[in-house]
Amino acid sequence: MTPDRLRARLLGWYDAHARDLPWRVGPADGATGVRADPYRVWLSEVMLQQTTTPHAAPYFLTFTRRWPTVSDLAAAADGDVMAAWAGLGYYARARNLLACARAVASAHGGVFPDSEEALRALPGLGPYTAAAVAAIAFDRPANVVDGNVERVMARLFAVEAPLPDAKPELKRLAGALVRDERPGDWAQALMDLGATVCRPKAPLCDRCPVPDSCAALATGAPEGFPRKTAKAERPHRFGAAYVLTRGDAVALVRRPPRGLLGGMLALPTSDWRATRWSDAEALAAAPAPAAWRPAGEVEHGFTHFTLTLQLYRAEGEMADAVWTPRSGLGALPSVFLKAAREGLDRLL
Ligand code: SF4
Repeated sequence: MTPDRLRARLLGWYDAHARDLPWRVGPADGATGVRADPYRVWLSEVMLQQTTTPHAAPYFLTFTRRWPTVSDLAAAADGDVMAAWAGLGYYARARNLLACARAVASAHGGVFPDSEEALRALPGLGPYTAAAVAAIAFDRPANVVDGNVERVMARLFAVEAPLPDAKPELKRLAGALVRDERPGDWAQALMDLGATVCRPKAPLCDRCPVPDSCAALATGAPEGFPRKTAKAERPHRFGAAYVLTRGDAVALVRRPPRGLLGGMLALPTSDWRATRWSDAEALAAAPAPAAWRPAGEVEHGFTHFTLTLQLYRAEGEMADAVWTPRSGLGALPSVFLKAAREGLDRLL
């Protein structure tokens, strides 16, 4: 099948099967000239780098209700945005989000620039997001390549080189399919195919619009693409976390502004290290004197390591604590919310 025939098939499939997403202008509206709002496209792409579409959607709706334009977001207090981001993980992205919104508001009068190059110059806006906004919001023929698109390319062309080494080749293959015609729809069609049909573990090849173009399908084992090099095991770290209560309130602290979960409210913790903490060590590192008791543990996966928090629970006082009612714990980053819930479940 020629590249243009493949494009026509996939765009036709997208016209009939495009996902209905809160940030998307569907193909029928797009055909009448309706354009996606660059702010909504950008916000959704930043969120989708963190999480799945179903998880991102409620956050997206909350953000756009509260801050309907990029200028509204630029004017928001840092703490409000960080709190609204809680649960999406990786707070550096929320900081970058604000930096970018403020640059658009101050240097561009609240209007996103409309070329990939100018978008790329905005703070915290990486090559993938610049290409996605340029294509989806401005219909620029940008080569938008995320993990979904890499997978689709690796399968269509049965690329034998493993990831991550294959990335430049996959990008080149994707670029060869980009045209001036409907570049935004093309980018979204590939994303949708990867997300709903050409799925990572179990591709639904019987629903694929281009099975006769798929070299991986011809091998009989399309799920084996993209090839991957063996993964190094994620390091494991351990920390003690302290759930100190005073009636209904829980003692929280604000983490230092830089580093993991920087600037966020958190449970007080010990350092995080490669070995477990003994009870004696954990009690010596406690943030306040109290009748601490072991209260279970929780595990949380960060991008680069897995953390086990060993929990200790007590009732008492603590200097400089941010006393927060249980009902207000929902704004904690997920690792601490999980730890607080587990610790509070234990009887004193
Ligand atoms: Fe993916 Fe299967 Fe379609 Fe190939 S035939 S592109 S593996 S869904």
